[in-house]
Amino acid sequence: MPIYEYEPVNLNQTCNKCKHGFEFIQQINDEPLVKCPRCGHDVRKIISWCRAAVMEASEEHAHIGRKIAAYEKEGMWSHAAELADTHAEKIKDNQLKMRAIDNYEKAGCNAGTLEKHAKTNNTDVEN
Ligand SMILES: [Zn+2]
Repeated sequence: MPIYEYEPVNLNQTCNKCKHGFEFIQQINDEPLVKCPRCGHDVRKIISWCRAAVMEASEEHAHIGRKIAAYEKEGMWSHAAELADTHAEKIKDNQLKMRAIDNYEKAGCNAGTLEKHAKTNNTDVEN
């Protein structure tokens, strides 16, 4: 769910909640607030792309985490490893990288093939 930021329209008509702006979690389809829920003075929404992006990334992260876990459960180690590896690169997550390496090992790749795999990238080295 996105977090929206609001700021007071009139700086002379504020309360402690809205004086410096405040955050409000809403469904994407909810009507934006027009009044501070505390003092009832006019507020306006500040579009907060940065926060929305962070939320999406963590949702994506949770989604991928579940997918990796599902692969692991099925014993599809190379699938789990590749997904973890790709995602670890993207989000710079060392823990996930270790999980990828662990899964690569379970998939039967030793460090040597792993290195080769990294170099050849998309070429299939499992033989
Ligand atoms: Zn207020």
